[in-house]
Amino acid sequence: SLLARHFSSTPNIMAPITKECDYLVIGGGSGGLASARRASGYYGAKTIAVESNRLGGTCVNVGCVPKKVTFNAAMIAEAIHDSKAYGFSVKETAPFDWPSFKKKRDAFILRLNGIYEKNLGNDKVEYIHGRAHLTGKNTVDVKLNDGSTTSIRAKKILLAVGGHPTIPPGIPGAEHGVNSDGFFDISELPKKVALVGAGYIAVEFAGMFNALGTETHLFIRHDKFLRTFDPMVQDAVTAEYERLGVHLHKNSSQSKVEKDEKTGKLTVHYKDSNGEGTLEGLDNLIWAIGRSPEVEDLGLDKAGVKQNERGQIIADEYQNTNIDSIFSLGDVVGKVELTPVAIAAGRKLSDRLFGPAKFAKSKLDYDMIPSVVFAHPEIGSIGLTEPEAEKKYGKESLKVYNTSFTNMYYSMMEQEAKGPTKYKLICQGDGERVVGLHILGLGSGEMLQGFGVAIKMGATKADFDSCVAIHPTSAEELVTLK
Ligand code: FAD
Ligand code: NDP
Repeated sequence: SLLARHFSSTPNIMAPITKECDYLVIGGGSGGLASARRASGYYGAKTIAVESNRLGGTCVNVGCVPKKVTFNAAMIAEAIHDSKAYGFSVKETAPFDWPSFKKKRDAFILRLNGIYEKNLGNDKVEYIHGRAHLTGKNTVDVKLNDGSTTSIRAKKILLAVGGHPTIPPGIPGAEHGVNSDGFFDISELPKKVALVGAGYIAVEFAGMFNALGTETHLFIRHDKFLRTFDPMVQDAVTAEYERLGVHLHKNSSQSKVEKDEKTGKLTVHYKDSNGEGTLEGLDNLIWAIGRSPEVEDLGLDKAGVKQNERGQIIADEYQNTNIDSIFSLGDVVGKVELTPVAIAAGRKLSDRLFGPAKFAKSKLDYDMIPSVVFAHPEIGSIGLTEPEAEKKYGKESLKVYNTSFTNMYYSMMEQEAKGPTKYKLICQGDGERVVGLHILGLGSGEMLQGFGVAIKMGATKADFDSCVAIHPTSAEELVTLK
């Protein structure tokens, strides 16, 4: 359920110190594990990592990994559908056995949990399974499963506790829906689902359900989704989802959710651009309206750690909090909520805290971080959007290259089966340095990484053009833009 995570309250009496260490990492997710292993494995710092749930955190258990596996299944469904156009005699809708797919996916994640635990051991990080909360600037109590408490004194403490899905605001019956964690518990392929939200998660999940043959309704508050992306992306993907048959409820809000106790089916009462309505017979409703920092029971007040107005921990570019001995990174600081960002920040921090003098200024450069939305089609983005670039540099100093074409993959298909491919390159100044790249179309996810390296190195339009095209690919269009 929405409120599945329970937060135990912070006890007032500190247990006697039972352990001491150089580095105590709270949170065994992407950032925490990377930082702990670097500190201990590379530099020999006496390190303890505490995780209350499953090792690997959000990404491994209820995020990137099971999501990508499900996305792969959705891509296979699309390929089966497309294969007819290439001369294969397949059934239009091949049956998909969600329960056995889920079982294999769960087993894969369980294997990963084991590998993560083994890796901690290999790097001599002591792993404690329990819920940690601060009792002071250098002290932490960990509540173990058996109800007992271990108290730890640490020279340095990392808060890498991540976040949890935001609970929907005051809608009666909202608890009948689930959040992104609940998505991974769905045991049968739903016939009909509704999703609420307009970010990465809502768009990725809606695309996957739709591709797998589920009647998919997506409720968004405005008339487009992915509104933090370049307008080209917003327009093209919103239009493509409608073309693919996702039922978009624009400018919408929900007033009530009801559950039929006999059938378990849900009804959503809503308002959208077409007026008031009810959507009945839903197998699942998924809220994907953002994430909140998991700080409720962390005891930040006991150590005096400052938070911003959203409750996120305030950390500077070196991941320092306002308390000397306490550091923070990853989703709980909320700067860029991506796994590789948490990992990179975690490693850089350990280099700085425990590494040789040459790393005294080690920190993650938060500029030019590429990211991909595993939508249908995939979206890749790095650097500034066009409106951001205009604001930063002025419209007159920009040159923007656009291309829109049909991927050769679709050459064998009828017009109505053809998806879009659109690329935009934003260049700045006389030297036409690339300050933004936005791509959507088949294979964009894999494509972006290499271009990201070039852009991070400061590539210009001329550098792009100097690389000979690879033919026939879609990516070649990016080195031949006019
Ligand atoms: P987490 O990975 O969330 O780890 C924090 C850990 O701390 C958790 O395991 C939690 O149980 C533990 N914890 C919290 N409080 C305590 C406590 N008091 N005591 C002990 N332990 C505690 N990112 C990508 O880059 N690519 C993707 O494709 C992608 N897909 C995603 C899909 C979904 C559905 C979601 C939800 C996220 C996705 N993300 C993706 C984002 C990514 O998962 C996060 O950015 C990343 O996991 C953040 O790492 P972290 O270390 O900050 O936090
Ligand atoms: P996001 O912050 O990406 O998006 C949430 C969006 O939901 C908001 O931007 C808002 O859009 C909309 N929203 C907010 N409140 C409401 C509401 N009450 N009703 C309806 N809509 C609402 O959050 P997600 O939960 O999608 O994902 C969290 C983060 O996890 C992402 O930002 C990303 O960093 C990471 N992630 C990364 C992935 C990847 O790398 N592929 C995949 C999944 C997650 P609007 O203002 O337009 O209404």
